[in-house]
Amino acid sequence: MNRYLQSVEKLQEARTYVAGGVASSLRASMKPTPLYVQKAFGARILDVDNHEYIDYMLAYGPLILGHAHPAYNEQIYEAMQNGSTYGLQHDGEIRLGQRLTEILPCAEQVAFSGSGTEAVMLALRLARAYTGKTKTVRFYGHYHGWSDAIFTSFPSPDFSSNGHSAAASGIIQGTGGQSQNSLQDLIVLPWNDPEALEETLTKHQHEISAVITEPVMCNSGCISPLPGYMEKMRELTSKFGIVLIWDEVITGFRLGLGGAHERFGIDPDLVTIGKAMAGGVALSAVAGKRDIMHLIEEGTVMHLGTLNGNSLATAAGLAVIQELSKSEGQAFKDMDRTATMLTEGIRSILKANGLQAVVNQQGPVFHLMFIDRTEVADFDTFNLRDSQLYTRFAEEMLHEGVLVRPNGLWYVSTAHGEKEVLETLAAVERVAQRIAAYR
Ligand code: PMP
Repeated sequence: MNRYLQSVEKLQEARTYVAGGVASSLRASMKPTPLYVQKAFGARILDVDNHEYIDYMLAYGPLILGHAHPAYNEQIYEAMQNGSTYGLQHDGEIRLGQRLTEILPCAEQVAFSGSGTEAVMLALRLARAYTGKTKTVRFYGHYHGWSDAIFTSFPSPDFSSNGHSAAASGIIQGTGGQSQNSLQDLIVLPWNDPEALEETLTKHQHEISAVITEPVMCNSGCISPLPGYMEKMRELTSKFGIVLIWDEVITGFRLGLGGAHERFGIDPDLVTIGKAMAGGVALSAVAGKRDIMHLIEEGTVMHLGTLNGNSLATAAGLAVIQELSKSEGQAFKDMDRTATMLTEGIRSILKANGLQAVVNQQGPVFHLMFIDRTEVADFDTFNLRDSQLYTRFAEEMLHEGVLVRPNGLWYVSTAHGEKEVLETLAAVERVAQRIAAYR
């Protein structure tokens, strides 16, 4: 009998009513089947077939406090007693805005929206309006949401299946239905290549409004910037009057409350944050320099959204900040420790079983890939990994009660502790032995 029968049946039923059966295309790729959830608590999730899993998917990143964190839930519940959204202003917006400007080194002002995609859209518009230029530079392997002007496809398992005809410019559209023209203002460069960046920015300085980058390439291998690369990017963009946008939708509130830009000690002009910022409620923000953000007050750039800054979302954001600020950020040290125990354990178990793998860790997020290399420090090498073997690994881990993303990125929350690590490593040991045996 199928172990996941209830989930399989529910997906069948969903397909009748919900286009594609799942609510976000990426979720369809889960093997052996997209799971349906009964409930979730702490670091754990229970599916409709009554299997319990330790959750390292964490809803693709937001659940920095784990599931159903009591103090977080209480604050949202309390906010709800006074209504969930007003279409009017309220104190929560001011308090969260104030906290963000205190926490994020580059933030003088913020603008709230609902998803990372929207925050990126707004940041790109601000950059165009501020500079009076139109082109955007982005990088292979990075992801900045699925809006028309930025969504491209790369040869990676997550996105290549969506790859559609190459646009005239040679840039591959992210999805069918995207206008050919929408990507015309995009220049795509290899990341971690200072010469390519300098050459392009020098050549096209009068056309480029923004350079947008993930500060750590979390979406493709959790790869760190080379020493000096982000400094160079800062220097060149300042020199040429180009807005530097760091997309911290993953790294914000994850590499520390102040995100990667605090950790690296570099101030971009704008940052986009989302995911972990509100712990699992729809909230994102653009934050940055007052003279750029001021374009919104001037009315030059429109900033719209029915549910922007709603009181549930701001209560959630404030609750996350409150929890993560306790004991001078001890939560981040604990998450780092948990993730390091995991990555060290996974490396040694896989090695002992003759499985060649690379694990790239950045605090409480890491990428595990099977690859015949000792390090993966660029997108081309990342593309050489054995993603089919990883998919099999992820499926076997699921049978062992551990939920991981099929693409290799693992997230750790404050709810994960030594108990979860030990259980997980025992599961990795069993799975590694099985995989090694049938390879
Ligand atoms: N930027 C980055 C770096 C992301 O990882 C994501 C989501 N994975 C987004 C933007 C888009 O965020 P959302 O899914 O909330 O629209």
